[in-house]
Amino acid sequence: MIYLDHAATTPVPREVADAMYSVLTEQYGNPSSQYALGADMKKQVESWRKTIAAALGCDTKQLFFTSCGTEGDNWAIQAACWQNRHVGKHIVTTAVEHNAVLETCKWLEKQGYEVTYLAPDGNGDLSAQQVLDAVRPDTAVVSVMLVNNELGNVYPIAEIAKGLARKNPKTLLHTDAVQGFLKVPCSPKALGADFVTISAHKIGGPKGVGALYIGPRVRNPRPLLAGGGQESGLRSGTEATAQIAGFAKAVELRMNGLQEKLSQMADIKAYAKEQLSTIPDLQIIGSGTAPHVLSVALVGWPSANIVTDLSSQGICISAGSACHQGKLSHVVDAIRLPKKTGQSVIRLSVGPETTKTDIDACVEALRKHHDTRMPML
Ligand code: PLP
Repeated sequence: MIYLDHAATTPVPREVADAMYSVLTEQYGNPSSQYALGADMKKQVESWRKTIAAALGCDTKQLFFTSCGTEGDNWAIQAACWQNRHVGKHIVTTAVEHNAVLETCKWLEKQGYEVTYLAPDGNGDLSAQQVLDAVRPDTAVVSVMLVNNELGNVYPIAEIAKGLARKNPKTLLHTDAVQGFLKVPCSPKALGADFVTISAHKIGGPKGVGALYIGPRVRNPRPLLAGGGQESGLRSGTEATAQIAGFAKAVELRMNGLQEKLSQMADIKAYAKEQLSTIPDLQIIGSGTAPHVLSVALVGWPSANIVTDLSSQGICISAGSACHQGKLSHVVDAIRLPKKTGQSVIRLSVGPETTKTDIDACVEALRKHHDTRMPML
């Protein structure tokens, strides 16, 4: 199998699975229990938190485990709105966020919030000024993703943070860094963000665990789940110890030679771009500079058919984002691609394991699709 969908999820290395297996079968204590099996696990959870916090670039006390990136996004935006409930009921976000952000905003609209959804330009780019121009005295939160999951565009979070501090210092800043963590620099301090969402399964960790950074400007954050008081009382529920162990092991593995891994991924992406450009009717979509995501359109050939054809040959790519399940993606809509182009968009996303041979096989399969199938759009 050739797996070119690392933005959807990533394979779990053996060492990660082994670390999880050991927690499930031998170190299964509840961190809240007082006997050694529990107390040892509590220490372990804190050491895993330390590994992940160090990789993100924050203090351990600022990192809270969640069940996924979606949960982090929901929590951050709602916590920001809660803190700033007396500031106002306006939110600024983009039209190309993940649904975890968009649906949270839509829910808040039903609670009386007004949301400004900013559209990037035709290349998927968004300027800090565009975001700052939309900020008003009653803006409670700005939520802008660090890396777009469909286009790979990187958004100027640090510049937005600087501008916000001048224009409206009370407004809190959230960034969904699910596609940015260990791909582009994303230390919360350097970004100037109050909330940063990350997720394990995009970097070789298991599904079902993520983390949210909550910065010092967030005072008495609203607990997401009330209960037994875990995660400093902010996110109760028995810790998902095996998942957290897997998350930390995945981070440790990725951090080992990270810069080499990233430049190798960027080289593979550049190679893919070059090879794909030799296919007639193929257009590169967006100007994404993240090392792992590449969107292209085989203009005239429906993306769903391409994905199915390549899947029958053991090649996994996605039609836009995996979360859209065949519907024309809101990202493609937001950057106003012509309909025919939009319906032909596919996404390739690479990981540290991806080779040029994988790319060659994918390019050949796409060329064959182009040469043997009738365009239908
Ligand atoms: N945000 C972005 C940008 C994503 O790409 C994803 C997953 O695809 C998520 C949030 C959701 O993360 P999770 O699958 O951990 O809920």
